[in-house]
Amino acid sequence: RSIVANIRFEEHTKLDIIQRRRVAVIGYGSQGHAHALNLRDNGVDVCIGLRANSRSATKASLAGFDVLSVSDAAQRADVIVLLAPDTAQPAIYREHIAPHLSAGKMLLFAHGFNIRYGTIETPNDVDVALVAPKSPGHRVRETFLEGGGVPCLLAVHHDASGEADAVALSYAAAIGSGRAGVLTTTFAEETETDLFGEQAVLCGGVSELIKAGFDTLVDAGYQPEIAYFECLHELKLIVDLIYRGGLRYMRYSVSDTAEYGDYESGPRVIDERVRERMRDLLDEIRDGSFAKKWIAESEAGCPGFESRRAQERELPLESVGNGLRQMMTFIDPVTVVPQG
Ligand code: NDP
Ligand code: MG
Repeated sequence: RSIVANIRFEEHTKLDIIQRRRVAVIGYGSQGHAHALNLRDNGVDVCIGLRANSRSATKASLAGFDVLSVSDAAQRADVIVLLAPDTAQPAIYREHIAPHLSAGKMLLFAHGFNIRYGTIETPNDVDVALVAPKSPGHRVRETFLEGGGVPCLLAVHHDASGEADAVALSYAAAIGSGRAGVLTTTFAEETETDLFGEQAVLCGGVSELIKAGFDTLVDAGYQPEIAYFECLHELKLIVDLIYRGGLRYMRYSVSDTAEYGDYESGPRVIDERVRERMRDLLDEIRDGSFAKKWIAESEAGCPGFESRRAQERELPLESVGNGLRQMMTFIDPVTVVPQG
């Protein structure tokens, strides 16, 4: 009940609040392009701020946007939305945004990292809020075009104008999230749960679970192609069931043997020691030590990060999967070309 009371929908929102303001979207990547296009389709005045020689500039111009320098965009706008990578944001903010943050403007984020960890400090006469869609940017655009939206989190860090919540809510509605639900939170809760989710479950946890399962079968002499189907390909089918009807619907749909094995063996894999490690991760997120490590890595030019990236690309799981996916055209296979 109390959770439901924290969620607002289209009928609680007013589009005209954001329609009366000029918005600058800084960055035209995953989130940036989706927010900008959805806002414009809802009649909002949007320009894009990018650095000199930006690779995204052509895409944004071709989409019909005014592409300005970050400084010019920040100067022109009432609402400045920082949608560049989190690690790049502090320098962008310092050099190109802070000088143009006059009283009454709003600085808007899609993730609370830099406010939560103090790497961006804002003046007292400016509103600071967060609208964080709970999906990659491409889904933000796709669901909008289908007539829907993705749920998002909304938080206000600083309300100088007395209207920060109303402006952020109107923005959330204009990107389509009013159709799916806008959940009120705080910068701390959004940041800590987002980092925890991606590390423990969504990205880190799932990747390692897949790798461990695949390796166990292959090391025991089973065919890698079969290991791939069992430990990766079928994951989507299971997650689709969970997504639609919770664990209960997944268990309703799988065989009784699978359901019995789930109860018997699942807790032996994800046991008390794993839960203890999860609490460790959460501690490191909350005390800032994860952020500190990531900021230092980023400032050093990401040497460890890049070598892990390269190493992970070479896993047998990945080449086996690549071969199989080329044969399964129905899954619409994608090959990621390394940037650089
Ligand atoms: P991307 O990496 O997709 O976007 C990068 C964009 O920022 C590009 O247009 C890039 O332009 C531009 N950019 C990079 N460096 C600079 C710079 N120094 N100055 C100006 N522009 C720069 O970012 P995301 O969309 O993934 O993330 C944006 C925000 O959204 C982050 O706060 C993230 O945490 C949050 N978020 C992301 C989600 C996601 O699924 N991706 C989900 C929810 C929130 P160029 O072509 O010049 O490199
Ligand atoms: Mg997330």
